[in-house]
Amino acid sequence: MSEKLADWTTGEAAIVYQSCAACGARQYFRRGFCASCGATELRELRASGEGTVYAASLVCRAATPETKAHVPYNIVLVDTDEGFRMMAHGDTDVAMGDRVTVRFVQFAGRVVPCFAKASQPDRTERWR
Ligand SMILES: [Zn+2]
Repeated sequence: MSEKLADWTTGEAAIVYQSCAACGARQYFRRGFCASCGATELRELRASGEGTVYAASLVCRAATPETKAHVPYNIVLVDTDEGFRMMAHGDTDVAMGDRVTVRFVQFAGRVVPCFAKASQPDRTERWR
């Protein structure tokens, strides 16, 4: 019933979120219940990997020896098109309000989601 989709935390190039069957709320962190209404009927879905940057902060000092080669790097909070907010890596030119698309990169020996500026300004009509 509650099938777990593979995502980047298990080496798959994908972002997975949960959607509540009762109230429709969406959440990024896997929980056994909906953070909005407490229902336990949650579906797992793959995100499109597109969104808008809510916040970005450039890390200039490595936290660990393994991350030293990557400095400076950007940590971003992204409001995804699916409606949940997630923290991830971002290109250093990504700033608040930018439309972004995810790709997956090697970082300190792991594959992590990293958001880059969407290649085209988004002029298409959105129906969601
Ligand atoms: Zn709910």
